[in-house]
Amino acid sequence: MAETLKKRSEVPEKLKWDTSLIFKTKEDMLAELERIKKLSQDIEKKYKGKLINGKIINECFAEYEDFYIGLDLISNYVSLNVSVDYTDAENRKLESIVTSDYMKELSRLSFIESELADAPEEVLKEAIESATTAKTYLEDILRDKPHRLGAETEATLVSLGEVFNAPYSMYEQTKLADMAFPDFEVNGKSYPLGYSLFEDNYEYEKDTEVRRAAFKAFSSKLRDYMYTTAAEYGAHVRREKIMADIRHFDSVIDSLLFGQKVTRDMYNRQIDLIMEKLAPHMRKYARLLKKANNLDKMTYADLKIALDPDYDPKVTIEKSKEYILDGLSIMGPEYQEMLETAYRDRWVDFAQNVGKSTGGFCASPYRKGSFILLSWNERMSDVFTLAHELGHAGHFYACSKAQGYFDNMVSNYVVEAPSTINELLMAEYLKEKNTDDKRFRRWVLSAQISNTYYHNFVTHLLEAAYQREVYNLADKGEAVPAETLNEIYKGVLQKFWGDEVELTEGCELTWMRQPHYYMGLYSYSYSASLTIATQVMKRIRREGAAAVEDWKKTLAAGSSVDPIGFAKMAGVDVTTDAALLDTIEYIGSIIDEIEELS
Ligand SMILES: [Zn+2]
Repeated sequence: MAETLKKRSEVPEKLKWDTSLIFKTKEDMLAELERIKKLSQDIEKKYKGKLINGKIINECFAEYEDFYIGLDLISNYVSLNVSVDYTDAENRKLESIVTSDYMKELSRLSFIESELADAPEEVLKEAIESATTAKTYLEDILRDKPHRLGAETEATLVSLGEVFNAPYSMYEQTKLADMAFPDFEVNGKSYPLGYSLFEDNYEYEKDTEVRRAAFKAFSSKLRDYMYTTAAEYGAHVRREKIMADIRHFDSVIDSLLFGQKVTRDMYNRQIDLIMEKLAPHMRKYARLLKKANNLDKMTYADLKIALDPDYDPKVTIEKSKEYILDGLSIMGPEYQEMLETAYRDRWVDFAQNVGKSTGGFCASPYRKGSFILLSWNERMSDVFTLAHELGHAGHFYACSKAQGYFDNMVSNYVVEAPSTINELLMAEYLKEKNTDDKRFRRWVLSAQISNTYYHNFVTHLLEAAYQREVYNLADKGEAVPAETLNEIYKGVLQKFWGDEVELTEGCELTWMRQPHYYMGLYSYSYSASLTIATQVMKRIRREGAAAVEDWKKTLAAGSSVDPIGFAKMAGVDVTTDAALLDTIEYIGSIIDEIEELS
């Protein structure tokens, strides 16, 4: 933690990603910005008030797509450069200039969406029939029509956008600016505390006293902001409910699932089955954790610790390439080529330097490869993170090659499938390669549980179970004060962990920690994606090339299929319980093997 970090300028080139793949120079980017500003004015002149038939709509869309791609590349270029070094004032300045410019152009062209949304059905149908690009995008506008309000009301709502987003920005301010954590003390030694310090470090700390003391200090500071945070969240939920009502949805949940093209059944299944059927397996895992770490008891503050905290296999970047290429070779030569390109053309930013954004992400500017931000610690777990992010890269590589810009989007329900399948394939490969090394094998198995499945099937799923109850209350017109939120959260934890885990005071405040709640129904979808990933992984291992071929076609489908269609293309049926039940069995079998090896 306290190691002195290098400045960005001192980091060797080979550890940095290469944004010149998007624009050779900053001047090229600025020239493109000028071009799209001009293009936007042309589009306005040519089409404003004139989108009256299919032919004109499609002509307009050809130019609108050109505009959007330019915008996509420009905004990625500036924000990627900022994300690796927030201390670089010049890049930040460039980003703010560019952002204010393109926001202006975006609002200039907002007439396109509103004219289309208000266009007669026949006109839209005609446009869809003859569409050369953005076909699904246009279909979605038609699909949305019954929920559209009058032009004047819609315009008013748009102009109130900033106000509607206020609860979320207040939440962020509360959390990131107002909340100051005091140091805490254990056995006379003082430890610094902060939000990410707690979530990224102390929750995994192997010293039990320090870990539990950190949880206590962290929770106590959270509690100071409990009422503010509940008021912010309550306002957000209330706004969602009002919007759902005026847009003619029976429930907030339906209104949020509408955009994802997911049915109520699919949504409820994830929450109900996991709460009931996965819980026994995870309680067993909690018991194993307690035993392996010699704990006096298992508490809520201990759930994130490693099964074997003293074992931490190291991996160099060079070696990671070998693992990635070998471990994912089952995906075929085309995929291999993409992976090699990722290393050769420097898609990945491995560096650790001052001012670099934390965590990991993958951004994929349209048809320009991908940019993966990591912070390489030479840990085996970094290989899994990299495999995950390369899964997103592979997805958008295939999808943008096959689809127009506007049909390049995918539903939350499936978006994490291509990334998590890579984690699973890596794990299977590592297990196979190291059959003799029991400790390593156990490490891989427990990494599957503690990283891949815990994150997606437990952490986010419990959040989802809580969120569903909040929306159920909102649908009944009830308020959700802090006490109610605490009670719901604690109830969910109790139901899942039973008597196996002592619910430390402060656990009920966990709802305060998740920004996802301001982004609709996100939390449940992680487990949905990973269910598809698990089934496809098993199929690929069983059937080889035929399954890989199907998967590759699925990756290229973009928004041309809905989540049920996506899964079906890959050979998975998500309309019944079977796929999820089988996935839960698979998780159970990993935990059983960990027990055998312990
Ligand atoms: Zn991901």
